Amino acid sequence: MAQEAAESLGIGGNWDRMYVDGEWRETSDRRRLSVENPATREEIATVPEGRPEDVDEAFEAALAAQEGWAARPPQARAEVVQAAMHVMDEHGDELSEVLIAEGGSTHVKAHTELDVLAPGMMAEAAGFPTRSQGTHSDSVIPGKENEVRRVPKGVVGVITPWNVPFHLSMRAVAPAIALGNAVVLKPAPETPIGGGLALAKVFEEAGLPPGVLNVVPGGADPGDAVASHPDADVVSFTGSSEVGKLVARNAGENLSLPALELGGNNPHVVLEDADLDLAVDTAVFGSFFHQGQICISINRHLVHESLYDEYVDGLAERAAALEVGDPAEGADVGPIINEQQRDQMVQFVEESVDAGARVVAGGGHEDLFVEPTVLADVTNDMPTACNEHFGPIAPVIPFSDEEEALEIANDTEYGLTGSVVSEDLGRAKAVARRIDAGMVHVNDQPINDEPHVPFGGVKASGMGRYNGEAILRELTEERWISVQHEPREFPI
Ligand code: NAD
Repeated sequence: MAQEAAESLGIGGNWDRMYVDGEWRETSDRRRLSVENPATREEIATVPEGRPEDVDEAFEAALAAQEGWAARPPQARAEVVQAAMHVMDEHGDELSEVLIAEGGSTHVKAHTELDVLAPGMMAEAAGFPTRSQGTHSDSVIPGKENEVRRVPKGVVGVITPWNVPFHLSMRAVAPAIALGNAVVLKPAPETPIGGGLALAKVFEEAGLPPGVLNVVPGGADPGDAVASHPDADVVSFTGSSEVGKLVARNAGENLSLPALELGGNNPHVVLEDADLDLAVDTAVFGSFFHQGQICISINRHLVHESLYDEYVDGLAERAAALEVGDPAEGADVGPIINEQQRDQMVQFVEESVDAGARVVAGGGHEDLFVEPTVLADVTNDMPTACNEHFGPIAPVIPFSDEEEALEIANDTEYGLTGSVVSEDLGRAKAVARRIDAGMVHVNDQPINDEPHVPFGGVKASGMGRYNGEAILRELTEERWISVQHEPREFPI
């Protein structure tokens, strides 16, 4: 096993296996997923596609391992998470290579995942074993002692998307493990390495006992098997609202707790007293970072009519200056993950133009590279505005007053995040409070995620929260033990 762990965690690693019960299973009779570099269209790896019976075996292994793992002293569990951080650090260049080649991440985005987000969450999670505490409370019954213990939920099924694969898997896996749960992880079929198998390697090398983390690659079939599994105590899902609703229904059948982080349609609201440079700077990052393929990207720009033309010109100029190309070569904007996503966003742009929107930057695409696109004269019912376009597309919608801005901002089924730009902080905060979303950022853009601050949405953007105390509570439960120290009186 030690020899396995010393293998490469880069794209040349031996990834054509799944990880169940501490074993790297070759499973030569399974169909293969072809993992493609979206920038070069080369096949960079194949991995086995898990079947429902693989998911069953993964849950069996997780169930068998969980009790013993939870019984380990808190410090021992914390040490494994800390060791995993060291392993990640040692293999940082290889992991970065995976995120760039497999997911089309730019260098900056791979660095953000591997050096900021994931280690931040792991450091937070390493504190969980000692922070996860119960209580003693006075009893209303004389002579009774109440003890409330906080214990791990048990087995956590984790299903994750392709866009920020390593961090979005790690933000569920690290806290679950630290708190004494066992995990069955099903990464996205586009990113089975960075979102799954690489995490297995990291934790294996960190000394995690067999069975505590299991990784079954594949698409909807093993995903469905994880969400519907009777041994899943929690199903932690990050992905689209459409699939999230299905996952919640399936988890609900078994009374497994569904924890859902779903899509967004996030407004960037620029009030008339905004600093225009700040508004445009934040907008460029919020719209075009990782090609706009982040659930918390800016989806719609809502700009006061007095600043509208200058804002559109400024944003268009900045969008046109971004270098689009292979992120391995240092481009600012890389490829879209696949043809289906690209076709969808291109169609949204075309339909918006047909409905009266004006292309002021970009608008074209070559293979999977979509130009950063700025659309003016957009209304909230146009396809780029009323859908989560998930691309480097910036529809800009004018408004005449604050009430209208709020009406447009909230006119969406989603409620994940948003941003407000204004020089008057009191006013900006008042507007932020009226945006119906789980997170809103003033004088910034919405791409923010801090390991100790609750992260999550409302409405069709999900239920439950990641990070800090919120995830600690979600992945544990309270058990009440009472002791009657002296005989009590009963009425009958
Ligand atoms: P998706 O919903 O298509 O897939 C997500 C995961 O679910 C994948 O692993 C997929 O294989 C799996 N899956 C598919 N069908 C399933 C089924 N029937 N049962 C169980 N699992 C199934 O989403 P995606 O295209 O991978 O990711 C993009 C979406 O994710 C966007 O909507 C984005 O906003 C959302 N997202 C949300 C957050 C957040 O924190 N709120 C973060 C990142 C992405």
